[in-house]
Amino acid sequence: MSHITSQEPVVAIVVAAGSGIRLGGEVPKALRLLDGRPLVGWSLESLAAGGVSEAVVVIADGLQDAFGRALQDAPLPWRLVTGGATRQESVARGLDALPPGDVVLVHDAARPLVPAQVVRAVVDAVRRGAAAVIPVVEVSDTIRQVSQDGSEVVDRGALRAVQTPQGFAREALIASHVAAAGRQYTDDAAVCEAFGYEVVLVPGSREALKITEPYDLAVAEAVLRQR
Ligand code: C5P
Repeated sequence: MSHITSQEPVVAIVVAAGSGIRLGGEVPKALRLLDGRPLVGWSLESLAAGGVSEAVVVIADGLQDAFGRALQDAPLPWRLVTGGATRQESVARGLDALPPGDVVLVHDAARPLVPAQVVRAVVDAVRRGAAAVIPVVEVSDTIRQVSQDGSEVVDRGALRAVQTPQGFAREALIASHVAAAGRQYTDDAAVCEAFGYEVVLVPGSREALKITEPYDLAVAEAVLRQR
């Protein structure tokens, strides 16, 4: 286990190359406005507040100008790279363009309001020696697993919903992504786990909600009003 000193810069890959079809609208989801600012701008602001010093933003081809404008007043240095067909491929493209830094966060642009304390908790766990860290929240709904034979209730006390940013020791993330090429995993922690790294859980936050449907934008607006 390696321990990373607090002087090391924390760098982030922000994936924003999805289309966000479920949200509808004319522009890709990451460029949708929340209180006058694009979701991707909020995401960079939230990461910077939690100690991130530089970001690679992964976007769909052809949107360089639009993202450049959206990030004009971002609070940290950023660069744009073109993503791939899947989220995993988009993260891999981001890794190819990663600036120096031993702690790497991977964050969905679609989670604009992740609180600074969640970002810091993820970073701190990596600095204490974890290879892969995920923020999680308890599940409040009752969950049923459905199949062709019917359905049965699942013990929700044993379930956690996984958020981002996920945090990694740089070498663990790069080595796992290289080894995973061609196979699909649900997220980057699962990529690392498949190659033998333990995944550490830290408390996430309801405010780190993922914007998927128009309803989620309304909730995010309410969160902002309350802050
Ligand atoms: O589709 P889903 O909600 O799981 O996407 C999660 C995040 O991954 C979003 O921020 C989306 O922009 C990003 N993504 C990407 N490249 C893809 C697919 C999704 O960067 N090919």
